[in-house]
Amino acid sequence: LGPTITVGEILVEIMATTIGAGFLEPQPLTGPYPSGAPAIFIDQVAQMGGSAGIIASVGNDDFGRLNIERLERDGADISAISIIADKPTGSAFVRYRPDGARDFVFNIAHSAAGDVRMTEAAHALVARAGHLHIMGSAFAIPGVADILENAIKTVKRRGGSVSFDPNIRKELVDAGRGRKLVDDILAVTDLLLPSGEELLIAADSADEATAVAKLLDGGVSEIVLKRGRDGSSFFGRDGARVDSPAFTVEEVDPTGAGDCFGATYLTCRRAGMEPERALLLANAAGARNVTRRGPMEGVSSLADLEAFIASSTTESI
Ligand code: ADP
Repeated sequence: LGPTITVGEILVEIMATTIGAGFLEPQPLTGPYPSGAPAIFIDQVAQMGGSAGIIASVGNDDFGRLNIERLERDGADISAISIIADKPTGSAFVRYRPDGARDFVFNIAHSAAGDVRMTEAAHALVARAGHLHIMGSAFAIPGVADILENAIKTVKRRGGSVSFDPNIRKELVDAGRGRKLVDDILAVTDLLLPSGEELLIAADSADEATAVAKLLDGGVSEIVLKRGRDGSSFFGRDGARVDSPAFTVEEVDPTGAGDCFGATYLTCRRAGMEPERALLLANAAGARNVTRRGPMEGVSSLADLEAFIASSTTESI
C-alpha cells in the first residue's frame, strides 16, 4: 500500500562507558551514535527491506550528517528530514545504573530535533504512506500531536494502518497531558507495542489479562508485549495468544531493542507473515541489538536474523 512512516526525534547518543557512574564527574564517554527512537525504528524497517520514511529535523552539523548518512545508507527515505540551519542536532546523554535502569539527559526542545516541520516533501511522504508508526516520545515535541493527527486521517483514509509504541520516558512525558494523548491514539491503533508496565499504564488496568481484554475490546487488533529478557507475547482477537521466549545473549546496551523489535514485527506482519514467525524474528532483532553498543548499531536484515536464529538458543518461559 505504501511505506511505513514515522514522525519524531533524530538524535545523537553519547553514553557512559562505566555502569553506575553518574554525570557528576568527568568520565570516559562513547559516541556520537545515530539515535532517536523513531529513527532507530525506521532504520530497522529499511534494513528488513521494507519501504520506510521519517519526518524529522537535524541541524547543519556533523551530528545531523551522521544520522542522515546512516539512514540513507540503510535504505530509508530521507526526503522529509529538514536540515535546520540555526539549531544544532538533538542529543541524548545516557548512563546506566547498576540495576540496569537508564538515566537520560536530553537536548531536544532547543535543538533541531524539537523543530519538526511539515515541508512539501513531508506532505508527499504522508500522502503515499501505507502505515504510520506513532512513537510516544515524539509527543514531547511541539506541533507533533497535530502532525500526527493529520497523518492518521490521511493514512486511514487510504486504508492504511497505525501502530503505537507508548515509549513512556519519565523525562519526556508530562503525566496529565499524557493520559488524554494515549487514549486518543489508542482509539486509532491497530497494533500496540508496549513494553513492561506500559501495557498497564495504557489500559489503566492493574493486571495484564484485564489490560489486554480492555484494549482489544476498545478496538486495538493486535497487542505485542515486549518483556525484555523474558521475550514477548502476542495477543489477538478471540483469545489468540503466542508467547515467544527471548534469545540468550550478553546484553551490552539495551537502548534501541524495543524499536528494532517493533520494526521487525511490523515489517514481517506487513509482509504477510503469521504472528508466531514475526514474533520469533522480532525477538531475534531485539536480542541482536542489545549485543552492540549504540542504539542503531545492532539493526538487522532478514538474513542477519535468520543466521542469528540458526546459531542461537532461546530461554524457555
Ligand atoms: P524496550 O526497549 O521497548 O523497553 P524490551 O527491553 O522489552 O523493549 O526489548 C524488546 C525485545 O528485545 C524483548 O521483547 C526481547 O525480545 C529483546 N530483548 C531485549 N533485551 C534482551 C536481552 N537482554 N536478552 C535477550 N533479548 C532481549
